[in-house]
Amino acid sequence: MIQTDILIIGAGPTGLFTVFEAGLLKLKCHLIDALPQAGGQCSELYPKKPIYDIPGFPEILAGDLTGNLLEQGKQFEPGFTLGERAETIEKQEDGSFIVTTNKGTQHQAPIVAIAGGLGSFEPRKPLIENIENYEDHGVDYFIKDPEKYRNKRVVISGGGDSALDWSIFLADIASEVTLIHRRNEFRGALDSVEKVQELKLLGKINLVTPSEVVGVVGENHIEGVTVKKGEEEFQIDTDFFIPLFGLSPKLGPIGGWGLDIEKNAIKVNTVDYQTNIPGIFAIGDVNTYEGKLKLILCGFHEATLMCQSAYKIINPGKKYVLKYTTVSGIDGFDGTRK
Ligand code: FAD
Repeated sequence: MIQTDILIIGAGPTGLFTVFEAGLLKLKCHLIDALPQAGGQCSELYPKKPIYDIPGFPEILAGDLTGNLLEQGKQFEPGFTLGERAETIEKQEDGSFIVTTNKGTQHQAPIVAIAGGLGSFEPRKPLIENIENYEDHGVDYFIKDPEKYRNKRVVISGGGDSALDWSIFLADIASEVTLIHRRNEFRGALDSVEKVQELKLLGKINLVTPSEVVGVVGENHIEGVTVKKGEEEFQIDTDFFIPLFGLSPKLGPIGGWGLDIEKNAIKVNTVDYQTNIPGIFAIGDVNTYEGKLKLILCGFHEATLMCQSAYKIINPGKKYVLKYTTVSGIDGFDGTRK
């Protein structure tokens, strides 16, 4: 049985920053994540994409942000159970919780912080016969490393930010980028749409709209896609087909833990992001409240306030006076000053 002070479910940016904030209060953390690596959406969905709204970083790659968060928390020696999904939770008589994973690993803690983001990642797949035979053989639903597509022909399909942003990004890397969308209008940000139009005029992106990919062809690896435009059907030869239709959020087993759920997210109060079950908090993309924004910096804020409440639950009656790290350093935060 793994024992800790705060058991964090989800090792995305929110879960990782919780380790640091808890560490300042001398609280130990252990993280569980269904993915084999830490970083959540940042490392799974867009590790090589620059983020522009992390305070103090005019620009940082999502993968580098994950690395920095791991580095910042390392001094507090968090434990990790990776590649396992938190399945069940049981409240004990002493008020603590036991969380068991799909592989049977058990964890006990007085505080559970659910930082499960979107839950398990399930890409929305196009309804194309046999497409599963080409997955990892030229059909990708996530772009983990853009270098994979260097000097290759790529067909991207979708009308949102991901499809637009990756088309723009790969225009400088791939030998040929074709963006296919079933409408002439895109749902993504206006400046991305304008950039795609510019790149089209420069001959760096082939824009095929309103059209739809209806088939994939190839022997062992994809060799082309069949495109339908009105009544016409034609083939575009390609090395990769990347449908970017977004993720279908699935809360998974957490949805059955007796928590108040609204539209696939866990309802919390905005004082300390505690759920309807005392001792269980929900922070980051996984929670909902009036005015909620699914942004990394909001997850950081929620984690910080949550740790203060966790400290009070674990140390009843002990007074804690907030000090700046600049004044007391990291070790000065023993959380016991009167
Ligand atoms: P996540 O990053 O989703 O991590 C949650 C983790 O919990 C996952 O690793 C998941 O595997 C795990 N998990 C879930 N359920 C279980 C379970 N039962 N057991 C074990 N593990 C579980 N935000 C910004 O602020 N700025 C941006 O510029 C920005 N750009 C983005 C671009 C893209 C393409 C995308 C997709 C998102 C972007 N975001 C951006 C949003 C940002 O990534 C999220 O707000 C952030 O990742 C939320 O962090 P999180 O830790 O709450 O959740």
